[in-house]
Amino acid sequence: MMNLEELVNDIEKRCDEANPKVKGDYVEDGILICGNCETPKQCKITIGAKEHIVPCLCECKIEHYKREENKRKQEKTNKYISYLKEKAFASPNMEKWRFEFSEDTEIINEAKKYAAGFENHFTKGEGLVFYGDVGTGKSYAAACVVNALTDKGYRCMFTTIPNLANECSDYGILKIDWLLEIDLIVLDDYSAHKNNTATLELLYEVINARLNANLPIIVTTNMSREDFVKDENRRINSRLYQACRFFEAKGEDRRKRIYRDRANNIYAAVPNKPSYDKTKMSRSVIEGDFNDGTN
Ligand SMILES: [Zn+2]
Repeated sequence: MMNLEELVNDIEKRCDEANPKVKGDYVEDGILICGNCETPKQCKITIGAKEHIVPCLCECKIEHYKREENKRKQEKTNKYISYLKEKAFASPNMEKWRFEFSEDTEIINEAKKYAAGFENHFTKGEGLVFYGDVGTGKSYAAACVVNALTDKGYRCMFTTIPNLANECSDYGILKIDWLLEIDLIVLDDYSAHKNNTATLELLYEVINARLNANLPIIVTTNMSREDFVKDENRRINSRLYQACRFFEAKGEDRRKRIYRDRANNIYAAVPNKPSYDKTKMSRSVIEGDFNDGTN
């Protein structure tokens, strides 16, 4: 076992190794000063009757360790966020569905508002229903919310009802308790008439359990407001009415527009005038262009 003297020497040695004398350092009043930040790398302490000069960290070294520590924490946070996103989405592609890359549409603005106020919505268990025509960006907007919230460390899940049914079935036994561990669940593409009785029963159980626990959900659906009123599954719909804000997604079919824009871009890339003159081409080449394989 080390005595006190040996212990002090050991600490001195370790500190020296952590903050050694380098070129530019100088001595003032018997104390080593850092040539870079001009603060002491050593200090005097008295143990018993004896004065010791022991190493300490100068300011630039303290800053260096702080930066290292922050970097380590940031890396840990990034890793955790990647893990949350991996858990949240079935497809890694959806991790790219973010507000930063989205257009300034009404539904995106609504989704942004919801994500920004999520702390409050979470406390109150307030959710959202995005309803309306196909291709109006409902799933995209909901995925943007999930990405914004996982960035902040919330546990989210973006799923469809058939996937949810698989995930909740444990050898035929319905297990939904784990869904209450998730801060926000997105149920994508809900449609009462598309699902069978068992799936709708599961959906009711899930929605009911979440809302009883005051936990929010987001639902996206192609159903119209009228469908919700006349719909055969009033139990689910009335629960959604209680706990969600309904927002109608309007606008041009997003997918159709993307295809159209792509087509326009390709067209725009083609020069207005052909770079070759067809009249000067030999007959065989022209015929070759239109060869239908019959000759
Ligand atoms: Zn220094």
